[in-house]
Amino acid sequence: MSIDSAPASLAGASAFPDAVPTLTPGVTAVPGKKILLAAPRGYCAGVDRAVDAVEKALEHYGAPVYVRKEIVHNKFVVETLSKRGAIFVQETDEVPEGARVVFSAHGVSPEVHAQAARRNLATIDATCPLVTKVHKEAVRFASSDYDILLIGHTGHEEVEGTQGEAPDHIQVVNGPHEVDQVEVRDPDKVIWISQTTLSVDEAMETVQLLRERFPNLQDPPSDDICYATQNRQVAIKKLAPRADVVIVVGSANSSNSVRLVEVALEAGAGAAYRVDKADEVQPEWLDGAATVGLSSGASVPEILVRDVIARLGEFGFGEVEEVRTATEDIMFSLPKNLRADLKAAGQTPDRPHRVRESR
Ligand code: SF4
Repeated sequence: MSIDSAPASLAGASAFPDAVPTLTPGVTAVPGKKILLAAPRGYCAGVDRAVDAVEKALEHYGAPVYVRKEIVHNKFVVETLSKRGAIFVQETDEVPEGARVVFSAHGVSPEVHAQAARRNLATIDATCPLVTKVHKEAVRFASSDYDILLIGHTGHEEVEGTQGEAPDHIQVVNGPHEVDQVEVRDPDKVIWISQTTLSVDEAMETVQLLRERFPNLQDPPSDDICYATQNRQVAIKKLAPRADVVIVVGSANSSNSVRLVEVALEAGAGAAYRVDKADEVQPEWLDGAATVGLSSGASVPEILVRDVIARLGEFGFGEVEEVRTATEDIMFSLPKNLRADLKAAGQTPDRPHRVRESR
């Protein structure tokens, strides 16, 4: 799939992908060679909403629309939106005074909101509501003076945004190897929270070790690792033991995509690789393989998965078996001020306002 042939809208269409044919049209299937296609895979509700927000902002306000950081961690999505008039910047001080800027799905700290206000920027906050939920937990427990242990990856935008809500109360724990270094003021007043896109198993290992050190460690009020991350890991775990090779479509900076490769290997895949796009699939990965598992991260449009299926078809993998472990029907409504502007202009934002998690 080239950027020039990308569909008119990157949002919506791929959030709930149509069923893939069990035999790839035009491919001569070699008996015994099969693709196990994970479901759910690809776009989650937060990514779909963020991409839709940029597309609708471009349509409604016109180009350029500035976007702070990658709207979602996917090369193809970012390059396609750039071509349509989005300008991606690292910080708000790169946005001209008074211009419009979209904040990415990963969320921002209060300081970024303040910087934008100082520059008189019109903001559209596309932070995923499930990330906002974690921010609110951080604020609530910081106001009760807890030490908050944020399990996540230092440097990831989501972690920076969450930590920025209460920098004096939050310390980041990158994984089990950092548990020994944690120091708290009162071991009876400690809570853990987490990045939304971690490996569930690794996060739980970290929590267990933290609890050995701090037996009164409190759990967050609800899961922070989001439904989409968990569902994609459950699906890949189910197919991995049957797969000689697993391929995950997703970008290198996509935390949940990278986790899927790790989870596949831990669950018994013969080998596992991540690709941004179909032409990165190497023929030697498929040498002697009969079964290829395939999934995609939560920021990946379905068209990129279809391209990989076509590429695998070149090597005789014409049969596709879906391995489904959950059905998702979540959709988040657009950011409030964008929705209001669209309504005022007589346009009804064409997405249902469903905010429901489904596992
Ligand atoms: S991966 Fe989860 S938290 Fe992140 S944008 Fe998607 S639904 Fe939201």
